[in-house]
Amino acid sequence: MAFIQSANIGSYTKHLEYISKLKELVQKSPRRYARILKGIHSDGEDIYEVKNVHDSFATGECEDSRFLFYLQNGSKDCYDCSFQGWNAEKLYQICHGFGGMNVQFGARNLYNQDALYNEECHNSKDIFGCEGLRNKQYCILNTQYSKEEYNALKGKIIAHMKTTGEWGEFFPPSLSPFAYNETIAQEFFPLTKESAAQKGFAWREESARNYQITLPTERIPDHIKGISETILNEVIQCAHAAPPTGGCVHQCTTAFKITKEELQFYRSMSIPLPRLCPNCRHYERLGWRNPLKLWKRSCMCNGTNSKGQTAYNNTATHFHGSASCPNEFKTTYAPERLEIVYCEQCYQAEFV
Ligand SMILES: [Zn+2]
Ligand SMILES: [Zn+2]
Ligand SMILES: [Zn+2]
Repeated sequence: MAFIQSANIGSYTKHLEYISKLKELVQKSPRRYARILKGIHSDGEDIYEVKNVHDSFATGECEDSRFLFYLQNGSKDCYDCSFQGWNAEKLYQICHGFGGMNVQFGARNLYNQDALYNEECHNSKDIFGCEGLRNKQYCILNTQYSKEEYNALKGKIIAHMKTTGEWGEFFPPSLSPFAYNETIAQEFFPLTKESAAQKGFAWREESARNYQITLPTERIPDHIKGISETILNEVIQCAHAAPPTGGCVHQCTTAFKITKEELQFYRSMSIPLPRLCPNCRHYERLGWRNPLKLWKRSCMCNGTNSKGQTAYNNTATHFHGSASCPNEFKTTYAPERLEIVYCEQCYQAEFV
């Protein structure tokens, strides 16, 4: 507490200084190549209890799978899936749902089996192109068929889709209920309006905002101690909307207000007032995160980064016979980045 008080963290000027020092520290302290906990023959980032899982992120308790994002709880033999899990098996190009067995190309489905191109269907089997079904079997486009009719018609439709090029592809972007820039796709894979249009995605236009700014960003008092309750009545300009910065790609709302609870929190933690609107704050935080992409690289222990920097406290002596560690790995740190990236063994030797 004494340190926090002496560090004067309630000052915005000091806050910027500490952020800059933190960035410098991050560049010179060795980084672990990936966060993998209890992983066997697996690569990705933020994965745990995985076996033979590759190119996957934020995923756990899965095996024999690839290209997963947020899959959990005992799923296996899955490929190209996101926000799924709970004992799912043999899924391909599935987005958001629970369970399922042998399910391909679908969204928000629960516990279906042998299902193709469905949305929001639950506990159903042998269904194709259906919407919102519950406990059904042998249905195509929500119409009930006999087993024989279902199999014959399914075969015909697949043959037709092969001629149109639709077979084997996820639903087209034109069927998405959301515009590209109002989904998390824009956070992980940002596009411009023009490039989104080229790929066939809809785009949500910013609504015109004409807030009457009562407090320009530069007039916010530097220290949280200098903030009175009258701040609750102010319409504060977002720093990214203020010239010459204007025109960020954060869906800036141009202005924001401070709530009573927020002010209490900033005061109790001695945090300076934000200078950005909530959307810009969100995107700034995302800037600290690595991309959903992997590069094959070598351990940099006893080597230098692209700026010629070596790590702080580089005391590694655990490998012998070569000048630097020979280990290779897949990491979310791109080769041109400045961080010094270590393999698990070197990282453990340095810090644990
Ligand atoms: Zn903003
Ligand atoms: Zn911004
Ligand atoms: Zn190493």
